This record gives sequence, structure tokens and C-alpha cells, in this order.
Amino acid sequence: DRRPGRVARVDRGVCTVLAADGPVRASLGPAVLAAAARDLTALPCAGDWVLLARWPDGPVTVDTVLPRRTALIRRTAGKDASGQVLAANLDTAAVVEPVHPEPDAARIERLLALAHESGATPLVVLTKVDLAADPQAVARQLAAVAPGVPVLPVSAEQGTGLAPLRPLVAPGRTLALLGPSGAGKSSLVNALVGADVMPTQAIRRVDGKGRHTTTWRALVPVPGGGAVLDTPGVRAVGLLDGHAGLDRAFTDIAELATGCRYADCGHTAEPACAVREALESGELPPRRWESWRRLQREVAYEGGRRQSRL
Ligand code: GDP
Ligand code: ZN
Repeated sequence: DRRPGRVARVDRGVCTVLAADGPVRASLGPAVLAAAARDLTALPCAGDWVLLARWPDGPVTVDTVLPRRTALIRRTAGKDASGQVLAANLDTAAVVEPVHPEPDAARIERLLALAHESGATPLVVLTKVDLAADPQAVARQLAAVAPGVPVLPVSAEQGTGLAPLRPLVAPGRTLALLGPSGAGKSSLVNALVGADVMPTQAIRRVDGKGRHTTTWRALVPVPGGGAVLDTPGVRAVGLLDGHAGLDRAFTDIAELATGCRYADCGHTAEPACAVREALESGELPPRRWESWRRLQREVAYEGGRRQSRL
């Protein structure tokens, strides 16, 4: 007797699984535990489709984690080379950044690389636009930070700008929100669901609970539609094998590089480097270049460290 369900959250090895007849609490079954002993990414996470087994003496377990279409993965430094899955089966990975205080371009770039890497369609959601004098101008500035990715200005408080997000939570579709604590993710979830299903920062403080507790990391069904998935804060997220995601998040630099004389140009001291020429002419903003270099170094460092452990 195995029935399907979707994992809404995982708390210390206990999954809350949304099954056809409602939420079920399920621990990890022997097959899942055996697989996880070899590779931590085999552990179920929010968004996973699973098969539940009911044992004769009562307990329900997660018997099988079904193959993921897309996944948001965090590298776990030191302990394990494979990383940890933060969210699974997302169709859209939205980088959530508040308009106030000033949007953090480097943070957006980092999370966009991760969003690209997940296999889902990336998006930037600019939140709290009721606090900006000219949100459209901010959105236009961010276009250079997120080439080829739509930037949607929203205000959860005023309920504006939500219309383009609705199709992303239509039946069968899952929207994941990535962004720092305080960016307005919970407020956005509530606005999309049309009810206060997620405690926002103010309420979490009153509750006296930590702002980074896993309790809030969850898949929330949207009535008559799909689901929205809140993911942990940006500090907890690292890049895995970031090169593919990085190249897609920095298509402007990748395109410039096709004009370099040498195919393996490192854009440092090589002659006829189109990237450095663009920097000198002002076509490529120095901030953007620095951001790319920083992420590139991070990927190289992590890749090297993983290999040295093999
Ligand atoms: P989270 O940590 O990303 O889930 O962020 P929250 O949803 O808890 O929001 C953080 C703070 O920003 C809370 O005090 C919210 O009331 C506030 N906030 C969220 N959305 C908006 C908005 O659209 N406009 C304004 N002015 N404040 C907002
Ligand atoms: Zn070059």
C-alpha cells in the first residue's frame, strides 16, 4: 500500500507530506535512509514527490523519493561533497530582493546563478515597492544585473504587481522564493495565498522564535492552484557546481568573452581581451566584473576542495 504525496516540510527527519486526503507526518523509511547514507541529496526535502508506506504496526514512512525535475542545492562545506537539497521540483526560482534599503546587486547575482543552476526558470521579484519613489527606475537598473531575466516590482502590503506572479502558481506549478530574511518572502506568500499562512518577521519576533528556524521553510499550496515554496536565507546558500549557472547569470560577460583572441582567455593579462576592453571603455561596469570574479573564484575554490577530498 504505497500512496503518493508531496513534502511540505522536513523537521528533524520527520516529513509533513501533503497526500490526497490531507497532511501526513512521515519518518524516513529504510530505503531512503540507506540511500542518504551514501548521498545526502537522497534525503527528501520540501517540494519532493514521494511514495508513502504504511507499516502494519501503524507508522507511516517515506518509502521512495521520486526523481526530481529541478532542484535547488546547497553545498555542505567540509562534511559532504554532494550537498543538500533545499527545494525540489520548482518551476520558477524567484530571487526576492527588497527595494528598500537599496537592492544588493551582488546578492541578486549570486542567487541568480543558483536559480539558473536549479533548472527552473529564474525571475527577480523586487519587493516593498511602496517604499520607493520610482520603483520602475530601480527595476530598470536591475536589468543590467539580471540579463534576460524579468524583474517584477511588487508590494505585498498594497497587493500591487501580483498579477504576473499568478500564472506561476497556477495548478501544477511551483514557485520558489529565494532571498534574505526580511526581504518580504512570507508577506509575498500570504499575498499570493490570500491568507496569513506564513508568520512574517514582526510576528516571528513576537513569538520569540529565531528568524532562521527551519519551521518557516515550507511548501504552501495556493488555493485552486499550485504551490509556493519559501527557502532559507541567503547566507545559508552556497553554489554547487556553479559554472553552468554562473555563465547563464552573466550572459553579458560570456558574450564579450567570445570576442577575446584566445578561447581560454582568463581576462587578466592576455592580449586582445574583449572583456578588459569593455571594462576600459565603460561598457562593462567594474562592479559587475568584480561580482563575476568573486563568484568564479568561489566555484573554483569549492570545486578544487571537493576534488581534493576524493
Ligand atoms: P521574510 O523574512 O523574507 O519572510 O520577510 P517578511 O515577509 O517577514 O517581511 C519582512 C518585513 O518587511 C516585515 O516587517 C513586513 O511587514 C515588511 N514588508 C513585507 N512586504 C512589504 C511591502 O510590500 N511593503 C512594505 N512597506 N513592507 C513590507
Ligand atoms: Zn578575455
